[in-house]
Amino acid sequence: MISVEEYQQVVLSQVRPLAPQRVPLTAAHGLRLAEDLTATLAVPPFDNSAMDGFALRAADVVGAGEATPRVLPVTADLPAGTTTVPDLPPGGAARIMTGAPLPPGADTIVPVERTDQPMGATELPASVAIHVAAQPGAHVRRRGEDIEPGDPVLAAGTVLGGAQLASAASAGHGELLVHPRPRVGVLATGDELVAPGTVPGNGQIPDSNSVLLAGLVREAGGEPVLLGAVPDDPARLLDVVTGALADLDALVTSGGVSVGTRDVVKAAFEDQLHFTTVAMQPGKPQGFGVLAGRVPVFALPGNPVSVLVSFHVHVVPALRRLLGRTELRPLERATAAVDWRCPPGRRQYLPALVDETGGPLPLVRPSAAGGSGSHLVASLAAAQALAVVPAEVDAVTAGDEVGLLRW
Ligand code: AMP
Ligand code: MG
Repeated sequence: MISVEEYQQVVLSQVRPLAPQRVPLTAAHGLRLAEDLTATLAVPPFDNSAMDGFALRAADVVGAGEATPRVLPVTADLPAGTTTVPDLPPGGAARIMTGAPLPPGADTIVPVERTDQPMGATELPASVAIHVAAQPGAHVRRRGEDIEPGDPVLAAGTVLGGAQLASAASAGHGELLVHPRPRVGVLATGDELVAPGTVPGNGQIPDSNSVLLAGLVREAGGEPVLLGAVPDDPARLLDVVTGALADLDALVTSGGVSVGTRDVVKAAFEDQLHFTTVAMQPGKPQGFGVLAGRVPVFALPGNPVSVLVSFHVHVVPALRRLLGRTELRPLERATAAVDWRCPPGRRQYLPALVDETGGPLPLVRPSAAGGSGSHLVASLAAAQALAVVPAEVDAVTAGDEVGLLRW
């Protein structure tokens, strides 16, 4: 048996970030930028109005007020998106909407509310009465006041959320160089498996691991590629994997890695993957290797709770590495709310409920009321995190400090 850390090292030492690719902005969401980005457009790209109102020269409305309006002829109508912008003649006013270009000659905007004009959709008036004196530059958004072409926008390594993508778009970019989303094959094994929603015969169970893994892959930033449930037939398994490999960046299988008589993944891949036991519970039997010199393969045990735990402990760090991320998810600290038993000599990962309302640390308790068996997949739905107990601890007592791994 090797320790969890040793095994994580073995895995991570064989996984490299995927080569950067240029993808459309919307496909870059959640991914890590692989280049420093500079602006090719100014933001704003041109002087424009911050209000619906009238563009004019401040000098033409000096002394204007409610009782002393200045009446100016309206010389142009400038909605947002207008591309022909006539010069503003001296003494004139142009009706202008938010985001429309400031006409050359104008130096200020008077909001429609400070004129005699009604708000909303109206005919273009021949003249407008201005009820306020205006400051030069008021309600004008200046070209480049946010960024200028050539300014830095986003640094390499930024994880791209909606706000970062908007920033890139406004600065002139339609595509970004990112570490792409890994395509992760998901494959269940077992003669006992039937598709979810079909009525199982005696001895059969729904294949819950495929949907579990597909969801976990997505949550970890990967793109799941469902390869289905394969019977316990090594030749069939080899066929399916060989046929799928070219389209995958990683593969996760469930089941068939233990010491049973029909452990199909072990039988099919005993020469190509390394099978070992890791000092953890659940998730002791594990297989790992790199196929075709490129595709990391995680052969996880079959019990659903083991799948969930193995995925968070071993697969998530590797998927993050493929995504070009270096930060590890930190292990948080928590306090046990109740007593529970732990396996001797193996680190325990216990599906847990987390209560944040109490003391300085979150309180955790086992989420499965009926016990901690790794087959208890229905109650897995209640789990919010994993409580983590060191290998050398045999029993947890209420009030003890434990680790907390969230997803
Ligand atoms: P194995 O490691 O193949 O011996 O499987 C261990 C346990 O997990 C057995 O009880 C299996 O029936 C169960 N199991 C294996 N694969 C799945 C799956 N895809 N969905 C639900 N349970 C599974
Ligand atoms: Mg099996």
